[in-house]
Amino acid sequence: MIDLHMHTTCSDGELSPKELIGKVKKLGYSAIAITDHDNVDAFPIETSEIRIIPGIEITVFEEKYKDLHILGLFVDPSNERLKKKLSELKKQRLDQKLDTIKRLNSLGYEISYEEVKQFSKGAIGRPHIAKTLVAKYPKEFNSVKEVFDKLLAEGKPGYVERKDWFSLNEAIKLIHEAGGVAFLAHPLLYKYNYKELIAYFASLDGDGVEAYYDYVKNGRGKEIKITDIYEVISLCDALELLKSGGSDFHGSSKKQRLGEFVLSDKVLKNIERHL
Ligand code: AMP
Ligand code: FE
Ligand code: FE
Ligand code: ZN
Repeated sequence: MIDLHMHTTCSDGELSPKELIGKVKKLGYSAIAITDHDNVDAFPIETSEIRIIPGIEITVFEEKYKDLHILGLFVDPSNERLKKKLSELKKQRLDQKLDTIKRLNSLGYEISYEEVKQFSKGAIGRPHIAKTLVAKYPKEFNSVKEVFDKLLAEGKPGYVERKDWFSLNEAIKLIHEAGGVAFLAHPLLYKYNYKELIAYFASLDGDGVEAYYDYVKNGRGKEIKITDIYEVISLCDALELLKSGGSDFHGSSKKQRLGEFVLSDKVLKNIERHL
């Protein structure tokens, strides 16, 4: 029983790496990958009885594709080039969140970086901004999801793109240089044509796709067709792409729960055969 996509307090998850590992061990998982947004701060991790795959979820912005998420599994967290690039990405992430806070201020929401930071033990992301708004404007927002739906989701008034771009090609190369394998995360959550996107990802030497994903719990309000899920799996087979999967667990502010969306150990074995 495994899960190859999980977040901790190092990004927008609510459990620390230690707390998360304690819980999944108790539930009987044999392996998990920790894949925080744009950082590997959870590593190194010393633990027994369970395998922890070092991972990352990199945010990509390029001309055609904006806000794609690329999972790197088996990356070496101590790789120098990775560390250097991640410190740049951290700055880009922070700049974007500061711009988002400014935009919200101009829309009349009085929140500051300091307030948002109180909701995060690591890097800040839109979920922390959303939590701040729920706390300060409870009459207007009931939940994090409501803030996304009204303000922070792509295309909404409080959504701000990154100024500096980091391309799909660069993300894949970086993951490879750090010894990892690159997967296109949750291909059906983007506004782009997923078939074209997967073919493009494969053409750039991407290794695989997160073919198994809990779109029921984390569909972000999009209606996901089961036929599209099957189509992604067939495309992986046709293009000889690896298949990964996971719950994208963040904690109680999202619907995914531990133990509910788990994969067979074989999924991991198949990936490892290609390392
Ligand atoms: P950021 O890294 O600041 O771009 O925030 C991205 C994170 O926000 C994602 O990993 C999700 O955890 C969350 N997120 C993105 N879109 C939505 C949405 N529509 N509803 C709820 N959470 C979302
Ligand atoms: Fe997240
Ligand atoms: Fe993601
Ligand atoms: Zn994720």
